[in-house]
Amino acid sequence: MTRLKRTCYICGTKGEVTKDHIPPRRFYPQDIQNKYQLITVSCCKKCHEQFSEDDHYLRTVLNALTDETVNHPVAIENRESIKRALEKPELASFCAEIAKSMVRVWRQSKGGIWIRRYRLMLDYPKLYNLFSRYVRGLFHRERDHKKVMDSDVHFALLVPDDYGRERRETIYQHLGFMLEYDPVVKHGDVFEYRSLYFNDNITHPHSAWQFRFYDAHDFFVLVYSNEYKGPDGQLN
Ligand SMILES: [Zn+2]
Repeated sequence: MTRLKRTCYICGTKGEVTKDHIPPRRFYPQDIQNKYQLITVSCCKKCHEQFSEDDHYLRTVLNALTDETVNHPVAIENRESIKRALEKPELASFCAEIAKSMVRVWRQSKGGIWIRRYRLMLDYPKLYNLFSRYVRGLFHRERDHKKVMDSDVHFALLVPDDYGRERRETIYQHLGFMLEYDPVVKHGDVFEYRSLYFNDNITHPHSAWQFRFYDAHDFFVLVYSNEYKGPDGQLN
């Protein structure tokens, strides 16, 4: 792995750092990896080793979430390698957790017929950690690998696809405008993200982030600064 004299985007350590991919490299099949310049951020070895299971989690749940993903050509291609990874003995407890989060729910088909389907309930604390990390990494990258996001920021993770039409509509009503902007990065219809920084005089929220996977799943993240400044510029 390339070693760069840069700052770790998580702990701020300078010097001996390695590269972390956002989203993880194994999220992409080989031909996509060759086609696009994947996003890398500088990360120390210690921090790098902590997150492998969370990345597995996202890759696995995204692949199983909805019919769009189930039928997406890249998702289908990824499925074999996900299956192989899940067969590893060290991931046995991880698999058991995923299995436990499958629940049977009633869903209405497009034709209006109610059917019972398996539904994966998302692990929000895990997603929260994961997207906090992605946002920190991308912020670091957008600042030329020099600035680490303040550790006192607060994140609000919004997952519109999962819970109810009403909530989904509310999220899109408030943050859907972001989709009108060009993505900062777009890797085909597999991954894209957008970021938007708000005027520093009104730093609440500080920035907004949108991630889209497989052209179907949007995740929005709001980042609040710990120091709330009102419109008059005074700290509250
Ligand atoms: Zn670190």
